[in-house]
Amino acid sequence: MSRVYNFSAGPAVLPEEVLKEAAAEMLDYKGCGMSVMEMSHRSQVFDDIIKEAEQDLRDLMHIPDNYKVLFLQGGASQQFAMIPMNLMKNKVADYIVTGQWAKKAYQEAQKYGKVNKIATSEDKTFSYIPDCSDLPVSPDADYVYICENNTIYGTKFKTLPNTKGKTLVADVSSCFLSEPVDVTKYGIIYGGVQKNIGPAGMVISIIREDLITDEVLEGTPTMLKFKTHADAGSLYNTPNCYCIYMCGKVFKWLKKMGGLEVMKERNEKKAKLLYDYLDSSKLFKGTVEKDSRSLMNVPFVTGDKDLDAKFVKEAKAAGLENLKGHRTVGGMRASIYNAMPYEGVEALVAFMKKFEEENL
Ligand code: PMP
Repeated sequence: MSRVYNFSAGPAVLPEEVLKEAAAEMLDYKGCGMSVMEMSHRSQVFDDIIKEAEQDLRDLMHIPDNYKVLFLQGGASQQFAMIPMNLMKNKVADYIVTGQWAKKAYQEAQKYGKVNKIATSEDKTFSYIPDCSDLPVSPDADYVYICENNTIYGTKFKTLPNTKGKTLVADVSSCFLSEPVDVTKYGIIYGGVQKNIGPAGMVISIIREDLITDEVLEGTPTMLKFKTHADAGSLYNTPNCYCIYMCGKVFKWLKKMGGLEVMKERNEKKAKLLYDYLDSSKLFKGTVEKDSRSLMNVPFVTGDKDLDAKFVKEAKAAGLENLKGHRTVGGMRASIYNAMPYEGVEALVAFMKKFEEENL
């Protein structure tokens, strides 16, 4: 078996330990004679899996009792519609547009009400996070929306926006569980799990209870009501059972590693290694303003498209995979999520140094 260092933005690298455990349990989960893939979501065994997964996530994030944890499907993209459908009582929402994903959410919400773009960084190709300390928040806004870590551009909010008392909704798909968060600052924290947590096919949404009501926009399908899933403990219909099981394993791995404080330290150390090299390199250049840099997604360029392509190709041959930047921006991007070991970033930096010597 030979595993590569996988810098994919998502679906992405998972902890090897977790994959091995899942492999060992594939045919017979804990003596029940079947795989988790084969068991009823109404079985006692699965009930234990989902409850334990939720509890471990609650422990890791210190989620207060007045927040529900929902395991949903439809990807993060489905939340772009579900959020306005469930939250737009006044049919007004404010969006901070810091990248493609925030923009998509902003555009989708326009189907349901009046949506204001109260800040954006599009003027400089989303290479920074705008100052959000005193924005023109709408007095009747149902919520203020952010994408906290911008996967494509590699930026991250270092301080949350001042929402002037309005409910904050955050897409944390690409920074989920990468560092501690104060859940009480948000109305909703949600993200697709396929980057920093588990396999593709599930979204976790942590929602303050008062936002889960029957008062949704007219015509909202049953499956798109938060209340449907909250009332049924995420078992209204068949959930993504295997994904819940895998995420549960990753939560246990995170607990074993020491929790989110430790992950933050590890992630800072990994990111520093790469950013320090980028800052000193004569060939490669980071594309993000320093104080907006993400710990998870690190985009960089040589400034020459052909050389970028050569780098991606040679890196792949050296066992460093998926370093091509997003198709909309080009260049390179190294996604260094929780499960990427320090050695993976060391290997990347060593390869970049060699490439620099050979190509400068
Ligand atoms: N939000 C962010 C920040 C993302 O990075 C992505 C996916 N790359 C999405 C939303 C969309 O996720 P999905 O494919 O699960 O709909």
